[in-house]
Amino acid sequence: MVAIPAGSRESDGECPAHGIFPDNIPSMSEATRSLHDLDLASLREVLAADGVNPVHAAALWRSLHREGRATPEELAAAPLLPPLHRWLERALAPGGGWFLDRPEPVEEIPSSDGLTRKFLLRLRDGQTIETVLMGYEGRHTVCVSTQAGCAMGCVFCATGQMGFVRHLRPGEIVAQVHHARRVLRSVDPEKRVRNLVLMGMGEPLHNYEAVMHALGIISDTRGLAIGPARIAISTVGVVPGIRRLASEGRPYRLAVSLHGSTREERSALVPADKRWSFDELLEACRDYGRETGKRIFFEWTLIEGRNDSPETAERLAALLAGMDAHLNLIPLNPTGGFDGVESQAGSARRFQAILRAAGFPCTFRQRRGIDVAAGCGMLRAERKKPAATAGVSPSRR
Ligand code: SF4
Repeated sequence: MVAIPAGSRESDGECPAHGIFPDNIPSMSEATRSLHDLDLASLREVLAADGVNPVHAAALWRSLHREGRATPEELAAAPLLPPLHRWLERALAPGGGWFLDRPEPVEEIPSSDGLTRKFLLRLRDGQTIETVLMGYEGRHTVCVSTQAGCAMGCVFCATGQMGFVRHLRPGEIVAQVHHARRVLRSVDPEKRVRNLVLMGMGEPLHNYEAVMHALGIISDTRGLAIGPARIAISTVGVVPGIRRLASEGRPYRLAVSLHGSTREERSALVPADKRWSFDELLEACRDYGRETGKRIFFEWTLIEGRNDSPETAERLAALLAGMDAHLNLIPLNPTGGFDGVESQAGSARRFQAILRAAGFPCTFRQRRGIDVAAGCGMLRAERKKPAATAGVSPSRR
């Protein structure tokens, strides 16, 4: 039987923000499973178990992940051998046991500069998630969600304010990349998605198994082929997950949201700090750097009067001394439930100068489309408001 991670139960337990996690990982019943949840080896096993020569798996994989076919009709038109077409017809028919992950686009909002597009996508069970396609000079990056909602409760984050709903399956994560790629190709068939960041809704390391499985599919050179060095996992500081990434030798980039230079400063913004202490987190980051030899990217949302003083910058530089670290300074995206305001330009520049003087690369993240509710969870939160949901079309499934 093919094992399909439905979400990481291992890291479940006590929620740092809201108590005990509900058992709301979507069940992967044997009756219906997604072809997008399967890596190539699993696809071979599935075909073999159904009496189809597993050698055909590579062609089906190519149709799914290289060509991005995501409906029974698109697959029926694919240049596949008759035994595969017959299997697909059976498998994808009602009661056939399999489905395809193709989230329904509920809304797409381009930013005023035309470089960023934010998508609100509806999953099979009606949950909505956000995916963002960002265009930079010569490259395109997709930002995907890994959970519906989030249990970490960061006070400045719209997703954190809505709470945890459920983990996403691997296929639901992979399908977001396919959606962004379809949109990009419809604009210019020559353009490719080259980078992936896991910075959308949810904490990726809280859904570890499903995320790692999805990244294996996304980085497979026979499919979407986004190289591991072009994939960044952003965590709020799930210490067991950081340690596991190192011990398993995962080849992805790691970004850690820090936001504070003392326990008090940080835990006021990031409730997860109460579960994994500031000291534990820094120790895990140091060990990660030592064990993997990789640079860590630290994310810092600058909030006026809370974490943008010169003293904080100096303390931060001292804390990170000796580490191969890059500081990413992020402008605050205003959300309704948080009263903090964005740092003044002068404070932000002073903060950056202190870190740079201490020898750390320190850059401002480009603000990509604040006019499209680019802070994670903002679009979904907006559309959840009763007046705004009236025009949303029902699920096509
Ligand atoms: S910032 Fe990330 S980890 Fe924190 S609540 Fe938002 S989605 Fe969750």
